[in-house]
Amino acid sequence: MAKIQAIRGMNDILPDQTPVWQYVESTVRKVLSQYGYQEIRMPIVEQTDLFKRSIGEVTDIVEKEMYTFEDRNGDSLTLRPEGTAGCVRAAEEHGLLFNQTRRLWYTGPMFRHERPQKGRYRQFHQIGVECFGMAGPDIDAELLMLTARLWEEFGLSDHARLEINSIGTSEARKVYRDALVSYLEQYRDELDEDSKRRLTTNPLRILDSKDPNTRKLLENAPVLSEYLDEESVTHFEQLKALLDSAGVAYTVNPALVRGLDYYGKTVFEWVTESLGAQGTICAGGRYDGLVQQLGGKPMVAVGFAMGLERLILLLETLNLVPDEVNNEADVYVTAMGEQTVASAMAIANTLRNALPGKVVISHCGGGSFKSQMKKADRSGARYAVILGENEVANGTVGLKPLRDDQPQQEVSQSELANVLAPLV
Ligand code: ATP
Ligand code: MG
Repeated sequence: MAKIQAIRGMNDILPDQTPVWQYVESTVRKVLSQYGYQEIRMPIVEQTDLFKRSIGEVTDIVEKEMYTFEDRNGDSLTLRPEGTAGCVRAAEEHGLLFNQTRRLWYTGPMFRHERPQKGRYRQFHQIGVECFGMAGPDIDAELLMLTARLWEEFGLSDHARLEINSIGTSEARKVYRDALVSYLEQYRDELDEDSKRRLTTNPLRILDSKDPNTRKLLENAPVLSEYLDEESVTHFEQLKALLDSAGVAYTVNPALVRGLDYYGKTVFEWVTESLGAQGTICAGGRYDGLVQQLGGKPMVAVGFAMGLERLILLLETLNLVPDEVNNEADVYVTAMGEQTVASAMAIANTLRNALPGKVVISHCGGGSFKSQMKKADRSGARYAVILGENEVANGTVGLKPLRDDQPQQEVSQSELANVLAPLV
């Protein structure tokens, strides 16, 4: 029978990969908690309408990327393509936004039916951050400073570039949209197919077009920044000033509009040149209207999401994963003969108590001296503890270095932890 394989674009993360995932997740977790962000965990499946209403009907995600299905009750459900909508739903549903500000984060898999390629998968993972109830540019700046600090932790500061823009209020964008459409209508026949379609569905996305001809036409198109409302302009100026004082470098990219309907005012992306086409590692912006759009009271908000696959790919490409991030053992305790198993397990436990943070593997499954030593070697351990019936009788063990040519020593069981402590 043919073997069943994983679904295209959905990856297994294998044991030799999980250490770097854990390293990335724990580093982000540490930085977020230093800034007072609290974790929230939402279901992976939500009602389809939640995404239609928040992300917008005429976006790439809703038009062609969602995993939508009918459950056994006939309800339309969707595997979450992003976390913001579910986070807002959960926060509203449980009254987390009632008269208070919130700094929340979450992590987990997201699902989009895209064409799989390097840095683009159908199940991928994000760490998302959402802040509620803070209207000023200060919280926008905090989010960007926090991300800059993360890059610093990862040694990525020279490899991530910040692009920011302001897309104004939805009223301002409406006026601009009309101006853009009437300009582009004159050249309708010269536009690429996607842009032609977007002219009626989502004209602002045309600014994102990679088509050279469309790009050329855009050079003389009206620019969004000239249509911004007073308040958005001031907000953006203040944000830039805060970033300047914090020493966070950025470029203003007037073409940055972001794909989702719910953004307004500040939008941003952290981009790297080291990953080819899939260069955006973190993206977000302000979405002051979304909570109300989903049926809540008016509640300002700003957030971002970071793509973990891309971040990890970047760390690996640049060789920035620290050496100690691995899943190798430190000590491997052998047990030669059935009579030694109980003592070997007790010794391993004593070592785990005495050497917190070290990996102590207790050999299981019997076997000859040779085969046990082979497993010890393969575990990556620096030392093997050798326990045979003589050692059990004498209260000693053999301590054998596995990574250099030093001779094996005989050590008393009561001294073993003290002897090993400075060595591993
Ligand atoms: P892109 O323009 O690359 O499609 P996006 O604007 O659709 O990205 P967002 O919805 O803003 O992406 O998601 C935030 C981050 O999640 C992205 O910057 C990226 O790092 C990551 N991401 C998005 N889609 C995928 C995917 N299919 N596979 C892997 N990572 C992804
Ligand atoms: Mg996308």
